[in-house]
Amino acid sequence: MALIDCKSLTLEELRFHLASMEVPAYRAAQIRSWLDRGVTNFDDMGNIPLKLRAELNKKFHISSVKIEKKLVSARDNTVKYLYALDDGENVESVLMEYHHGWSQCLSTQVGCKMGCSFCATGMDGYVRNLLASEMLAQIESAQSDHGVRVSSIVLMGMGEPLDNFDNVIRFLHLLGQPGGIQIGMRHVSLSTCGLVDKIYELMEYKLQLTLSVSLHAPNDNIRSQMMPINKRWPISELLKACSIYAKTTGRRISFEYAMVDGVNDSDECAMELAARLKGILCHVNLIPLNSVPKNKLRRSSDERLGSFKAILEKLGVNVTVRRTLGSDINASCGQLRRNKEKE
Ligand code: SF4
Repeated sequence: MALIDCKSLTLEELRFHLASMEVPAYRAAQIRSWLDRGVTNFDDMGNIPLKLRAELNKKFHISSVKIEKKLVSARDNTVKYLYALDDGENVESVLMEYHHGWSQCLSTQVGCKMGCSFCATGMDGYVRNLLASEMLAQIESAQSDHGVRVSSIVLMGMGEPLDNFDNVIRFLHLLGQPGGIQIGMRHVSLSTCGLVDKIYELMEYKLQLTLSVSLHAPNDNIRSQMMPINKRWPISELLKACSIYAKTTGRRISFEYAMVDGVNDSDECAMELAARLKGILCHVNLIPLNSVPKNKLRRSSDERLGSFKAILEKLGVNVTVRRTLGSDINASCGQLRRNKEKE
């Protein structure tokens, strides 16, 4: 019989499983408390009787991540981790320092099905979804290894979070549980390449997180070349969903726009983008592309970025140029894993 992933269970679910083993309910809180402190072995849970530890070992598994590689940027303190999961698969995570504290970018899948042309993760296909516990473990590992408290997270690492919907929702629920990591929803950004049906599903939860939509183009012609998902959900349907999402949740949408030289960075693109976003409660983040080796796409010049930004501002769009962090440590997602696979 497959072992149950203990750390992905809520306290109530853990109580339920323990009840079926005729174990008193208060043990669930004791076990959860050990899990929240990063303990990955029932045998290390001091206040749990030896006999019960043996029974727990037969029924449950505690997921963990191990640091396989750690790179620290000499430029801006950004830290990039390559984690090994229990089955030997690898995922990446990035820890970034901002004036408001440390933010961590987490992976939600091993690989990704979405195949975006500018992304190293997408080049290698999809392997599997991450469990909620494996997302929590990325934070716990970074906090204890680097000696910092992570105060905000972005689900923007390897994988498409909304393609791993149930595990991501479970992770978000566990994130705010008393005694756990306790990061509030307003400090969470969830990124999507535009799975429209899942955006509507997420809307039903009315979470106070920031929905961050990877738009990257002002029209279907350009977007379909960069992002195959656009053929399934074209821009008009995506923006309609975003508009409804923003009105329903009261939360501003964050549109991510990677500036790619000669592809999506012309003045015409800026004007078309502004027209498209009219009336949507939103903010645009312009991102200088992190170049991926083996990929001909290059970042736009600073001059192009400046001109694009100025046009959006003039046409009434809230816009920021995102700082490029960790450019000396391959901080764009998927590159460390690619190198590892090659080794
Ligand atoms: S950019 Fe995101 S959605 Fe697109 S292939 Fe990469 S990981 Fe997947």
